[in-house]
Amino acid sequence: MENQISKIKNQKYNYQLHKRETKAVKIGDVEIGGNALVSIQSMTKTNTEDITQTVRQIKRLKKIGCEIIRVGIPSLESAEAIKEIKKKIDIPLVADIHFDYRLALICLVNGADAIRLNPGNIYKIEQIRKVIKAAKKERAAIRIGVNSGSLKKSNIKYQISKIKTKTKNTETAELMVESALNYIKILEELNFCDIIISLKSSDVSTTIQAYRLMAKKSNYPFHLGVTATGFSQTGLIKSSIGIGTLLAEGVGDTIRVSLTESPEREVEVAKEILQSLGLRQFKPEIISCPTCSRCSIDLKKISREVQKRLKKVDKTCIYKKIAIMGCVVNGPGEAKEADIGIAGAGGEGIIFKKGKIVKKVKEGEIIETLFKEMEQC
Ligand code: SF4
Repeated sequence: MENQISKIKNQKYNYQLHKRETKAVKIGDVEIGGNALVSIQSMTKTNTEDITQTVRQIKRLKKIGCEIIRVGIPSLESAEAIKEIKKKIDIPLVADIHFDYRLALICLVNGADAIRLNPGNIYKIEQIRKVIKAAKKERAAIRIGVNSGSLKKSNIKYQISKIKTKTKNTETAELMVESALNYIKILEELNFCDIIISLKSSDVSTTIQAYRLMAKKSNYPFHLGVTATGFSQTGLIKSSIGIGTLLAEGVGDTIRVSLTESPEREVEVAKEILQSLGLRQFKPEIISCPTCSRCSIDLKKISREVQKRLKKVDKTCIYKKIAIMGCVVNGPGEAKEADIGIAGAGGEGIIFKKGKIVKKVKEGEIIETLFKEMEQC
């Protein structure tokens, strides 16, 4: 048993060791890559030229944990709105540009901290040169945002000549990487290195393959995301698998969850992904059992109530992991592993703290006792 535990601890240690080494690039005052924590991004869903609504949404997002905001720039009016938006917000802003490089130039002058360029639709060297000149002057970063849905036509022709035994996903991933590498080369030739890379597809497997391949070829930081994942459960699962798999391999420096839902939901899911992998901690973690016929307390009710009351607990509370287990089979073990926990036992609850039994109380007293114990931190 002891061997097993030390093996598990070593695995965790090794996982942390294997974080991909990258260059550090700054978007405003947020560092991406290097030794920085994986940061959370989202994108506004308002009309950017509606400054009031856009600023309101950005402020709401910041409040719940969004660290970098991206805004779409489909028009001259939206590029011009950046000036006012920047004055009213205090998180870094990334301007998302497609097709028209002149919008990037306006956004840079207006204070955008970074520009997302899509190699599939802004690829003329002279245009890129102008954007890079402005980015250097304004000390802004560039995200090379490759998307499988908007690969350049010449890449698609090349796809036809690819070896037939490869799967379509692999071919697409290779083309995405090739597209990013070509763009990196152009930027480096212009002596520009404040680069962040993204390689998004709506297909989870293609996305994972593209980032894995790119990780072998470049040390620029990655913005991770699976694009257009859709609604609720499906979007959440696709994003969690795509982003989570890569992060668990040590790949990824900033994340954006793309859902056909509110941006607030995107931020919430991003936080859950990072916390699930132990990369960030935003709130105490509840470990509650699924319950079964052995469950000897009303576990669902207790878990829900604990979760509700935890929202009011000081974030600096030392109890990071709280176990709520239905019986004495796995209960005491899990509760002992957590910072604090309870295990049901015939209508009663055994309370553990830092691995030791501290109390045994009646079911109705479990929640109060648990929080009283936590207050002592
Ligand atoms: S901890 Fe007990 S009640 Fe909960 S699922 Fe496991 S065996 Fe069932």
